[in-house]
Amino acid sequence: MSDGCAFCDIGEGTAPAFIVAENDLAFALLDIQPLARGHCLVVPRRHVPWWDELAEDEADAVFRLARTTAEKIRRAFSPDCVTMYARGRRVPHTHVFLVPTYSRDPLDRLFNALEGFQEQAAELAGLRQADEMRAAFERLKGA
Ligand SMILES: [Zn+2]
Repeated sequence: MSDGCAFCDIGEGTAPAFIVAENDLAFALLDIQPLARGHCLVVPRRHVPWWDELAEDEADAVFRLARTTAEKIRRAFSPDCVTMYARGRRVPHTHVFLVPTYSRDPLDRLFNALEGFQEQAAELAGLRQADEMRAAFERLKGA
């Protein structure tokens, strides 16, 4: 438990939340600052800042509940996909984001940009190779 932690308060039932699914070790709720309609968070009941610090049974419970909740999101909103990522940064209590994502919406564009950056990094690394640098030099010198 952690004093002043919103997710601990919700887990203990002392703060309101729209809990859409739960099991013994975790609960899923609507995010109060949604990126899309139906955006949910999956939260372990125990106060654990980082997802990789979860006990094995908690990790199992969180990801089982994430799958169940993603199925609910798919049935309710028919998104193209349910994007998942884990943080514990703004609220230092592990929470897995489940965001219904549609082609070209802000989150889809964000992840497309990240994937483009990954691909571009390899392409740019190639330009630093000695033969590529020599070829560019020769082209410029002769231009
Ligand atoms: Zn907490």
